[in-house]
Amino acid sequence: MSLPAKSSELIESRARLLGPNVSTFYDEPLHVVRGEGVWLWDADGRKYLDCYNNVPHVGHCNPRVVEAICRQAATLNTHTRYLHDGILEYVEKLTGTMDAALDTAILTCTGSEANDIALRMAEGMTGKRGIIATDATYHGNTSLVSQLSRSNVPTVGFGLDQFFRFVEAPDSYRNPDPDGTKFAEAVAEQIQAHETSGVGFAALIICPYFLNEGFPDHPDGWLKPVAEVVRKAGGLLICDEVQSGFGRTGTHLWAHQKMGVVPDIITLGKPMGNGHPVGGVVTRSEILVTFRKGYRYFNTFGGNPVSCAAAMAVLEEIEDKRLLANAKTVGEHARRRLGQLAEKHEVIGDVRGSGLIFGAEMVTDRDSKDPASDYTDRVINALRHKGIILSKLGRHKNALKIRPPMPFSIENADLLIDTLDEVLAATPVIR
Ligand code: PMP
Repeated sequence: MSLPAKSSELIESRARLLGPNVSTFYDEPLHVVRGEGVWLWDADGRKYLDCYNNVPHVGHCNPRVVEAICRQAATLNTHTRYLHDGILEYVEKLTGTMDAALDTAILTCTGSEANDIALRMAEGMTGKRGIIATDATYHGNTSLVSQLSRSNVPTVGFGLDQFFRFVEAPDSYRNPDPDGTKFAEAVAEQIQAHETSGVGFAALIICPYFLNEGFPDHPDGWLKPVAEVVRKAGGLLICDEVQSGFGRTGTHLWAHQKMGVVPDIITLGKPMGNGHPVGGVVTRSEILVTFRKGYRYFNTFGGNPVSCAAAMAVLEEIEDKRLLANAKTVGEHARRRLGQLAEKHEVIGDVRGSGLIFGAEMVTDRDSKDPASDYTDRVINALRHKGIILSKLGRHKNALKIRPPMPFSIENADLLIDTLDEVLAATPVIR
């Protein structure tokens, strides 16, 4: 590895100042210094096509968002105990994009906080504490929600294990469940187990598009059977739209709408402020009122005037630039081209996705579907050296995860696929 001197210095300083286990991407970590739209530049002035980052949802350094943040920061920023129009105008606009019953919100600074609140809301409403999630997900880093993240199970905790049960993450490639009934049955079993143990069932929390699990290919409406099971058992359905929301899937602004359900609680984060830290919980007023009465919740920064200005600018930019329609058109084009690559490159076992979340699963053998995890890693690193940034995910870390900023164009998609074609041709599969 021949890292630039400055990068080696930064890696050493990170370890010294930030401690061990602070992850970086790539064998040769990238030192980025500037972004614009779908592009990033490193310290040596090299340009990269960003096919991965969903936080700069409407593009790196989007002028509308930058201007909104600067204008509000230069006017007023306070904690959230004063009256201010910004938060009300934003919550009105945000909830206006969802089912009429979902008409209240709490704003937070992160997705983790939002999920933490959602779990407590479920406890408040049901009087029970049993939570169900998939076994390959990530929902955040608080004491409570870190228990849900099987990929990052904390080795120390607060003895909360008994409140969490897991179902196998859906996998349309290896274990198809075309109408969602297998998944619903698995959840029903865990609901029963919660009841039998005496903990009782409070909520199912899922990303409606199962992004961290590898975005399995499901038809629209796929979550209906599981939603019915949850409701019948008196529990709440929490949809974590931290990754899947704000039009990412190209067909609907919210993935739960695509999947045919109205959740009781929706949690938001990452793209919401285009990089400015703002998250949120949207729910029905009865749930919010119960939570507000039972849990004396206050958040100093959540929903401050600058955060709301950033978040409002993101929603306006999605509308103005028709980014939902763009995600659909460009995503379809990219998947069609990825499909053509699969005809050439045996290593691509499956191509899937919707809108601007898509990718390919790499296998050493199409019959056995054995994951080509190391190969995927080599491909990602080779792409980085050719100026293309993306990542991998899924239980076996063998799926290319392509999730660019929403202004991604057909030309950007062509550059990505042409470069991937070259890299796959030049990277031998070691069986
Ligand atoms: N939920 C999902 C689905 C996520 O992917 C993440 C972050 N990767 C979170 C919640 C946590 O959000 P944050 O890092 O803002 O706390």
